Amino acid sequence: MRRSRNTWQKERVGEAINDFDKSFRVEDVYGKVKTEGIGIATVYRYLSDLREEKQINYFMCDGSALYSKNKIQHTHFHCSECDQSTHIQEVKLPLGKITGGKVESFQLDIRGICKNCLQVDSSK
Ligand SMILES: [Zn+2]
Ligand SMILES: [Zn+2]
Repeated sequence: MRRSRNTWQKERVGEAINDFDKSFRVEDVYGKVKTEGIGIATVYRYLSDLREEKQINYFMCDGSALYSKNKIQHTHFHCSECDQSTHIQEVKLPLGKITGGKVESFQLDIRGICKNCLQVDSSK
């Protein structure tokens, strides 16, 4: 029997997730359900179950987990001078061609020197 007495909690967490149309963190979901007596461990477990069942996408964002229902991409540009990370909204890559398959989601970490740091350097 997979239906446990915690089923209502899972259902409630599932509903909370549906409220996010973009990406969210564990804390965001927890913030919506904590007043109803649902613990953060339950939220964690539910999200990792969904992840295992491939019903949800998972990315690493600034050292913490970021989830998304939609098949999205997640790209960071990290500056090695000022240590700032910025999100890049949309990266167009011919991934279908490269992989020969159908790409559903991807994560990229780009490293380099940001615009601001380049400007400081060139004025030296
Ligand atoms: Zn991120
Ligand atoms: Zn920089």
